[in-house]
Amino acid sequence: MERKFLFIIGWCLSFTISAQTTTNVLQKSISALGNWETVNDFEYATNRINIDKWQGYDFDHALPEKDSFHLFVDLKDSRFLHHTQNHYPGGYVFDTYRLGRDSTYYVYDGIGSRTGKDLLNLGSSSFDKRKNSLLNNFPYFILKQLLQEIKNESVLTEGKDLIVLKKNPNGTEEYRFDTITFLLKKITRIQGQDTIVQRFEDYTPTDGLMIAKKSSLERNGNIIYSDSLSLFKYNQNFASLVFDFPPGYKSTSESTPVLSAKMIAKDVYLIENVDGDRNIMFINMGNYIVLTEAPISSATTKSILDVIHTTLPDIPIKYVHLSHFHNDHIAGIAEVVKEGATIICAENMKQPVISMLQNSDSSLYKNGKVNFEVFNNKKVLENDHKKLEFIEIPNSHAKGMSFLYLPQEKMIYQGDLLSLPADSYTTPAIAVTKEFSDFLRQKKITFTKIIGHHGLPVISKETFNEIVKMKKKDPLFKNTFEH
Ligand SMILES: [Zn+2]
Repeated sequence: MERKFLFIIGWCLSFTISAQTTTNVLQKSISALGNWETVNDFEYATNRINIDKWQGYDFDHALPEKDSFHLFVDLKDSRFLHHTQNHYPGGYVFDTYRLGRDSTYYVYDGIGSRTGKDLLNLGSSSFDKRKNSLLNNFPYFILKQLLQEIKNESVLTEGKDLIVLKKNPNGTEEYRFDTITFLLKKITRIQGQDTIVQRFEDYTPTDGLMIAKKSSLERNGNIIYSDSLSLFKYNQNFASLVFDFPPGYKSTSESTPVLSAKMIAKDVYLIENVDGDRNIMFINMGNYIVLTEAPISSATTKSILDVIHTTLPDIPIKYVHLSHFHNDHIAGIAEVVKEGATIICAENMKQPVISMLQNSDSSLYKNGKVNFEVFNNKKVLENDHKKLEFIEIPNSHAKGMSFLYLPQEKMIYQGDLLSLPADSYTTPAIAVTKEFSDFLRQKKITFTKIIGHHGLPVISKETFNEIVKMKKKDPLFKNTFEH
C-alpha cells in the first residue's frame, strides 16, 4: 500500500503541464503524418510475429509463430479486403479473407481447410465495426477519431513525450507523442483488469506519408503480436477484381441453431454446431456421464451442460475429458468442475488447466472443488456395458494431447488431430493428422469412425485414409486474384 502511494506521488511529480492543448497536439500530429487527405485507397502488408501461450505447443515455452497480414482499403467506395495467414503448431494454416463491400461483411477460407468453400455473409451490422477496427491499425485514422471525441484541454509532458489523456466509462486511454516530431508513439488503454499497449515505431516517409515500420500490441506486458512493414502503396486504383467474390464458393449465413443431442451409438451422444463449428460428445455410463471438452467460455460450456441435463436428467457428470490445453478446448472448465466433475487429462497438461481454473474462478481451489485424474500413456474407464480408453499421443500440436477411444463402438473422439470442414471439402492432411494416422496404425487401434471436435462431426475411415494419401496441389494454395 505504502509503495503504491509513493509511486503515485512520483508519477504526479514527473509530469508537467504543457502550454499546448489537446486539439493543438492532435492536429500537429495528424499533419506530421503527411497528406492522408489525398489517400483514396491503400495497400498495406506486414510480417507478423504472434505469441499466444494458449495456442502454442508447450504452455511453459510459448514460441513465436510467423504470420502475415495483408490489407487493401478503398476509402472512396468503402470496400476492404483483409487477408491473414496464421500458423499454429502441427501444420495448421488459417488462411482467412475478410471482405467488406456493398456495406456487407464476408469471411472465407482461401485454402478451404477450415471452412471449405463457404462464403460466410455476416451481414451489414458488422461491416462498420470491422472496417473501423482495421483502420485502427493506422495513427491517422485513430487520431482523426480521437479529435472528434476529446475535450480541448491542456496536455501533459513527461521527458520527451506529450501526453493526451482520454477518460471513458470503461477506463482510460493515454496517447503519447514525440515532443519534436509530434508523431504518435504509444497508446495505453486500461480496460477493467487489462492494460493494452499499442506501439508505433520507426516511422519512415513513403511517398509523402509517414508510415510506422514497426508496430505491436501488448496485453498486461505480454506481446500479442509485433508487425514489420513489408509493403505500403497508395492511390493505385485497385483493379476491381481485388474485391471480387472468390469463384467456386457458396454463400452461407451464420445461424445459431438450438443445440440438441443426438444418439450416434447406444448411450453415446453428440451435440453439433456448438459455437458454430464444434461437436461435443458425452457418454451415459448408467449412473454417471462422461463429457469430452469444455470449449470457448463458461457461457458456451454452460449451454452444453444444459443440453446434457435435458437429455439425461438426474444423471450427474462425473468425468470431463480434456483433449489438450488450448483455450478454445478448456476455457469453460470451471463450469463443469462446479458441478462436481473430475478432470481426466494427460499429466503433461495439468498445469495449464490449473492456470485456466485460477483465471476463471479462483474460489474453486480454495473450496477444494478441483479433482484431477491424470494419466500417462493410457487410462481406462470401464463398467459392465461400456469401455472408454483415454490414449495419450505424441504429436506436434500440443503437449499432453490425448483422445478418447470406444473399442466396442470402434469410434474415436478427438480434438485437433483431424479436422475437416463441415461442407466435406478435402485438402491434404497436415503434419499432426499424419502423426495421428501413423499412431493408430502402430498401436493397431481399429476404428470405423472418427468424431471431430471442429467442423465435420463424423469422419469415415475411408475419408481419413483419402486425405492422408492426398498430395499437395501445385502451385500451393495460389489464389486467383492475389498479385
Ligand atoms: Zn488446438
